[in-house]
Amino acid sequence: SVHTEAELIAKSEVLFLFKPRTKFSHKGQFGHSLIIGGSYGKIGAVTLASKAALSAGAGLVTAYIPKCGYTALQASLPEAMVITDVNETYISSIDIEIDPSVIGLGVGMGTDSKTVQALDVFLKSNKYPLVIDADGLNILSQHKALLKLLPPQTVLTPHPKELERLIGGWKDDFDKLDKVKAFASTYNIIVVIKGAHSITVFNNKLYINTTGNPGLATAGSGDVLTGIITGLISQGYDPLEATVFGVYLHGKAADIATGKYGYQSLFASHVIDYLGAAYVDLF
Ligand code: AMP
Ligand code: MG
Repeated sequence: SVHTEAELIAKSEVLFLFKPRTKFSHKGQFGHSLIIGGSYGKIGAVTLASKAALSAGAGLVTAYIPKCGYTALQASLPEAMVITDVNETYISSIDIEIDPSVIGLGVGMGTDSKTVQALDVFLKSNKYPLVIDADGLNILSQHKALLKLLPPQTVLTPHPKELERLIGGWKDDFDKLDKVKAFASTYNIIVVIKGAHSITVFNNKLYINTTGNPGLATAGSGDVLTGIITGLISQGYDPLEATVFGVYLHGKAADIATGKYGYQSLFASHVIDYLGAAYVDLF
């Protein structure tokens, strides 16, 4: 394969990316994250991603969800704004009447044919940076023509099963990296290969994360990562910086939280709660 640079991402590397706030900061500088997703029974995924975006530092967060999730999301996350789809149980159209800085799309979204149709229409006119996860990735896997509609530097965050659906299988880890590099180059996108050592792939370069632990193998932890990366892009980090930094912070928050909860009892919500400690560790 072609020569590939690889970089280990630890504290000293993310310190180069980190943009601390100044005394005169105001929320208008930290952008507006829009999280699109959810379906009946999976509104929690959007709640987690929205809360993570706020906790990562987004100035404003709006969640776009089907009607059934309105009360639950608004009640559990009063800091977020909510826009509901016309449909009750899944997203059937994506009519954005706000002007977000970035969109995180796909968590808990389901793959109903009306949701697929909505995504197709949306991507054909979309002008916002995108972070796509979970069912957003599953829809892309089932409808590969949609991949051509992604804006440059769209961030995809597949776990191993979602990655396999996107790129097909692989013989070994080297083959997997070759295939992800080719896939990322073809569409000019950023791909996070999630796992024990998450690897961000962009432009034939690998960024290998050094934080995180098996406590993250739990419900909702990927949804939190999606929210963190979205929240970082909304603050002005470019998509690659946001992805590398976000993967690091997500793992670091989990590492700190593990001191209290151990691996078994760590919840995705705890990762959000300890995100502040992960930031404080940078000072
Ligand atoms: P998801 O499967 O979408 O919920 O995403 C799981 C998240 O947890 C990803 O960010 C993974 O990198 C992370 N994760 C899962 N298992 C481990 C592990 N054993 N060690 C470190 N991170 C993990
Ligand atoms: Mg996931």
